[in-house]
Amino acid sequence: MKTQNSFSRRDFIRISSLGIGALTLGDALSAFTLKADKKLGIALVGLGYYSSGQLGPALQHTKNCYLAGIVTGHPAKAEVWKKQYNIPDKNIYNYDTFDQIKDNPDIDVIYVVLPVSMHKEYTIRAAQAGKHVICEKPMALNAQECRDMIDACKKAKRLLSIGYRLHFEPHNMEIMRLGQKQVYGKVTSIDTGNGFTYRGDPNAWRLKKAMAGGGGLMDMGIYSIQGTRYTLGQEPIAVKATQEKKRPDFFKEVDETVFWELEFPGGFTATGKSSYNNDWSYLHVEAEHGKFGLGPAFGYGEIDGYTSAGPMKLPQIIHQAAQMDDFAECVWQNKQSRVPGEEGLKDMRIVDAIYRSLDSGKKEKI
Ligand code: NAD
Repeated sequence: MKTQNSFSRRDFIRISSLGIGALTLGDALSAFTLKADKKLGIALVGLGYYSSGQLGPALQHTKNCYLAGIVTGHPAKAEVWKKQYNIPDKNIYNYDTFDQIKDNPDIDVIYVVLPVSMHKEYTIRAAQAGKHVICEKPMALNAQECRDMIDACKKAKRLLSIGYRLHFEPHNMEIMRLGQKQVYGKVTSIDTGNGFTYRGDPNAWRLKKAMAGGGGLMDMGIYSIQGTRYTLGQEPIAVKATQEKKRPDFFKEVDETVFWELEFPGGFTATGKSSYNNDWSYLHVEAEHGKFGLGPAFGYGEIDGYTSAGPMKLPQIIHQAAQMDDFAECVWQNKQSRVPGEEGLKDMRIVDAIYRSLDSGKKEKI
């Protein structure tokens, strides 16, 4: 294992070429030493469905980072995680002791996996505790909260990334290449949908507007919006949306199914939809000289893709492991993640405009 003492001029040239030109020699030395000596420690905040089912297990497959700590309000959960993942007592926090993480050198990154209404507060407190932050999607309740989070992380000189795992998933990355490089010519149509039939607890935070910000659009639609944006590599300028509620008693406070048309510069429009009452996961793209797409497109089970030339034969990977390993590299190199807070803000500006359009019944500018 390399240490600071064995850092050579050749090492410096090698890591300089990795794109850390803006760093001082001291920063470069410490970044290199950190990488050489230890994996980055991640602390998960909120041990619900996604942390338990995906992030905890994924952190057993990461090469640049590991599960160093947890933050939970439930002592019984802490016991289970402590035993399952061998987490020392000193790295276990609750919501009252959260800010003390600033004194814990084992924890480099705080990963916020809480209800949406808590994302802003815990992202900002994490950055103020001197830690880099990954925040789950949707980034926050609205675009203004996203801006506040970005500003706070910049002020604290900490990196902020959003849990957009599909930017590291081979089939979705291939869609980005096919669309943005116009491999089949100019894109002429995009249709995408994402949703599932919600049969869970009717009192869950996901159905409460104050905690979730919205329903299927915030939770599932964010993937359809992302899919459209990364197929084209462009930003929409306006949107017109409509909605449907087949179970109004269940979805009292939040949207059930939403349909939209995103307008891009030059007049191209893409259709999309989201739902808590339909099982959708697809992205279909037509271009001047062929077609390509995904289905299932966005989940963390198997992803399948096709082009006019036949099925995509790409590996199935653990998205979250690739996503967290990439963020650890970004921390070492002090460079923005490919999915920084700004990426979450772009999506939330579109979501805000979709809600405005649902209210006004008109096309709304983004
Ligand atoms: P969940 O309800 O299963 O877990 C939420 C956790 O927050 C629980 O452990 C709960 O105890 C804790 N919590 C703390 N304070 C709370 C409060 N006041 N009210 C309710 N819960 C509180 O939710 P989840 O499915 O794990 O989702 C968490 C986040 O992860 C959300 O932002 C969600 O969109 C995101 N998520 C992302 C993906 C993905 O593929 N990237 C998948 C699922 C969930």
